[in-house]
Amino acid sequence: MSLLRLLFIAGIIWLLYRLIKKLTFKRNPDIRKTLETTHMARCTYCDTYIIRQDACFREDNYFCSPEHYEKHKQKDSE
Ligand SMILES: [Zn+2]
Repeated sequence: MSLLRLLFIAGIIWLLYRLIKKLTFKRNPDIRKTLETTHMARCTYCDTYIIRQDACFREDNYFCSPEHYEKHKQKDSE
């Protein structure tokens, strides 16, 4: 009987844990979206996400490095 009670309590704790996790998860996509839109940029050449502050912004495009800007320019002119 005591084992069943223990399992019952464990089940309640598990359900509560799931509920808390679900509630905190609900807010996460918004945070990620905000992070992506405000702090992250995608390199036009290699599709790598970089911090916007560190990215190189040339001709309306973001690049992870000046080298990739040069490569992108070469790709375009071909
Ligand atoms: Zn790149």
